[in-house]
Amino acid sequence: MNFNSEFNNIAENYLFAEVAKRAGGYSAKNPDKKVLKLGIGDVTLPLVPEVVKALHEGAEEMAKAETFKGYGPYEGYEFLRLNIQNYYKQRGVTLALNEIFVSDGAKSDLGNILDIFSKDNRVLVPDPVYPVYVDTNLMAGRKIIYANATKDNGFLPMPDYKTDADIIYICSPNNPTGAAYTVAQLKEWVDYANKKGAIILYDAAYECFISDETLARSIFQVEGARTCAIEFCSFSKTAGFTGTRCGYTIVPAELGKDGFNANKMWLRRQATKFNGVPYIVQKGAAAVFTKQGLKEINENIKYYKTNAETIAKCMDSLGIWYTGGKNSPYIWLKCPDNMGSWQFFDLLLEKAQVVGTPGAGFGKNGEGYFRLTAFGSKEVTKEATERIKTLLTK
Ligand code: PLP
Repeated sequence: MNFNSEFNNIAENYLFAEVAKRAGGYSAKNPDKKVLKLGIGDVTLPLVPEVVKALHEGAEEMAKAETFKGYGPYEGYEFLRLNIQNYYKQRGVTLALNEIFVSDGAKSDLGNILDIFSKDNRVLVPDPVYPVYVDTNLMAGRKIIYANATKDNGFLPMPDYKTDADIIYICSPNNPTGAAYTVAQLKEWVDYANKKGAIILYDAAYECFISDETLARSIFQVEGARTCAIEFCSFSKTAGFTGTRCGYTIVPAELGKDGFNANKMWLRRQATKFNGVPYIVQKGAAAVFTKQGLKEINENIKYYKTNAETIAKCMDSLGIWYTGGKNSPYIWLKCPDNMGSWQFFDLLLEKAQVVGTPGAGFGKNGEGYFRLTAFGSKEVTKEATERIKTLLTK
């Protein structure tokens, strides 16, 4: 027996462990000080009533022989896929039902999709980046090429035809930078991918935070995307499903090459390794799309967006450069006075008792930057930004 030695190539989960260690160490030494957390990427508001009602109904159905459900379809129940189809239709994207695959979240599918690609693909990932794209490929022994996301390109790298890539990761609105591509910018990536015979794995987990009409909510709003893209989305941030677990992946019917068809391969993969999302959870997810469900989740999204605005206003008043905050729950800021990410982390913790996430933990281009999130409560966000303002006002 030999273990997969590629695991030696992935970094220890250093970032959040180190953040917790430093914040915990500070609290232990200063028990009288209230530490405010603006570092988490998890939601804090509970599920909305319309979803909870559907979850209860689902549980009741499972309790009766006439309505009990055993194994469901691998690709998800039709009632939920119809709702997702309609959600896309509202922004002009037509999808066939068999192009929609319900999953237990975007993270699982972002990792699992790699089953349908060969090991020798060259993988292009932006830096800084959501670490899942890098680690899942390193585990499978693939080499990674990085696309530099920097202040100069607004943390939105554009294609470079001198670089040959086969699998391209794009996350928009981005975690950690909050930057989001316009439809026109994505068209350049789609053209590049079609020209190179590459595939874009498009992570739209934060699409619900977009209000600017020029920004893309789906890569399938871009002409040509159906021949080069797979899209991953989730109810986690849209409807607070981080602990309930439900997402969806769109694989166009015509996506393929050399006699291989991505849609058929993905269905085959799911049928082999996945037995579907619980019926009760899919009932809850379907309720997100009712008139009342949409009204309720939009109130929650608005709540987080107001927090993002509070943080953005604080940065504006301090003259600190940042991306995100407007069409994203993340604010990615340049550490003041050319401080390093961890230096700024320690300063905020020790002098203002505010915890954020050092940008250096997301890749080399993250050094000197810092991520704050809008997923805290309104009160914590307000107090934390006031403390930051007091600390950094010269
Ligand atoms: N994609 C990005 C960019 C994320 O930041 C996250 C979670 O934080 C996910 C995907 C995971 O989403 P899910 O909860 O659906 O697995």
